[in-house]
Amino acid sequence: MTEVINPATGAVLTDVPASDLARTDAAIERAHRAFADWRGVAPADRARLLRRFAAVVDAHVDELADLEVRNSGHTIGNARWEAGNVRDVLDYYAGAPERLAGRQIPVAGGVDVTFHEPLGVVGIIVPWNFPMPIAGWGFGPALAAGNTVVLKPAELTPLTAIRLGELALEAGLPEDVFTVLPGKGGVVGQRFVTHPAVRKVCFTGSTGVGKSIMAGCAEQVKRVTLELGGKSANIVFADADLDRAAASAPASVFDNAGQDCCARSRLLVQDSVYDRFLALLEPAVKAFRVEDPSRPTAEMGPLISAGQRSSVASYVTGADVAFTGDAPDGDGWWYPPTVLLAHSTGDRHWREEVFGPVLSVLPFRDEEEALRLANDTEYGLSGSIWTRDVGRALRVARGVESGNLSVNSHSSVRYSTPFGGMKQSGLGRELGPDALQSFTDVKNVFISTD
Ligand code: NAD
Repeated sequence: MTEVINPATGAVLTDVPASDLARTDAAIERAHRAFADWRGVAPADRARLLRRFAAVVDAHVDELADLEVRNSGHTIGNARWEAGNVRDVLDYYAGAPERLAGRQIPVAGGVDVTFHEPLGVVGIIVPWNFPMPIAGWGFGPALAAGNTVVLKPAELTPLTAIRLGELALEAGLPEDVFTVLPGKGGVVGQRFVTHPAVRKVCFTGSTGVGKSIMAGCAEQVKRVTLELGGKSANIVFADADLDRAAASAPASVFDNAGQDCCARSRLLVQDSVYDRFLALLEPAVKAFRVEDPSRPTAEMGPLISAGQRSSVASYVTGADVAFTGDAPDGDGWWYPPTVLLAHSTGDRHWREEVFGPVLSVLPFRDEEEALRLANDTEYGLSGSIWTRDVGRALRVARGVESGNLSVNSHSSVRYSTPFGGMKQSGLGRELGPDALQSFTDVKNVFISTD
């Protein structure tokens, strides 16, 4: 049994049984058997089932959101978006079964066609920071492409995934096509890596665990998609709309209490406007509302756990604090939004992923230095560029080594566009039209006409 705790109060919500090896193996074997039928479901029928699943999720958005507020401390506004995102991803990929077309390639002596064959059982391993969307980005396209899915939620945040598994059955998905297996990473997640019937692992989580999963998958040449850590830069040039850039900077790093792989946790400001920008940023940070996440006005809730709070605090101890916002006292794992001045790119809070509401700031001289500083990291997930100069926006966007960049905004994730990291932030892309390719193998068939 694993205790599930409300991070805003520290109260125990419930106990969830942890799947052991025998239960995991049995679920994988059932998913393997279910694959034979699921891949054979007519494309229009598979599409209809996914649309129905989306409709059932839609009817339960409030319930799922409420569960996420209590289990993960997400603000109610975010949690509603997250449940809606699962619905939207299912709707988007419901269009896929009837469009997953191969090619007909001109060759001599016959006809050559390609098919996108499903892989089999796909194992999805989810972290605690965005339990619903990250699950949906895996199971939506995986199911649409004709695979069956076993999914392991994070130990701390299993409740919405368990509920999504129930809703799938309610929507009419056949038994064992989508199975949620709460449990330990080293047991359930590891078995996805070693069980030969699991033909692909989608892992989202820390870079360290991701590397071990990739190494483990190599044993069976198992397909793997990795979405890992980040240390993204928010680059503000002197010609930018500084008011807008400053007003939006807090949410770009403090949203979800900074527990966001895309958090713009390194702020680079051109030196000629550095002081002015910090003066604009301070009131925006102080106004950022950290409160009971179930309140509609909340912009940030607590951290996920006591351990996460002490890890975050360790980055602030001894650092040069520019200013902080407020956070509630008392029960729960609260931490205030905090802005730190970096003195060199060697500062620990500048280099490492804090995964909390901590923003590090550093000035830069010119475009060349901004790019050099932004790319001086092993990560490459996202980032933002603020400038009114279109040429510079494009030059810098092409120059930053990250998978997802936004100009004069902080948006990273849309279900219809690709998402994923460069360098040690990941491997492969989720979402968008291309994600389906990574849940299928291309088969080539030549038919002789002689
Ligand atoms: P984590 O790596 O500790 O755990 C992630 C998941 O992997 C959990 O479900 C865990 O149980 C499982 N796991 C742990 N050890 C395992 C093992 N040996 N074998 C198989 N599975 C195992 O990460 P976390 O602390 O839950 O999440 C935070 C991290 O996730 C941060 O580094 C963050 O940047 C990253 N993240 C990345 C993205 C992205 O899209 N790039 C999105 C969200 C979170």
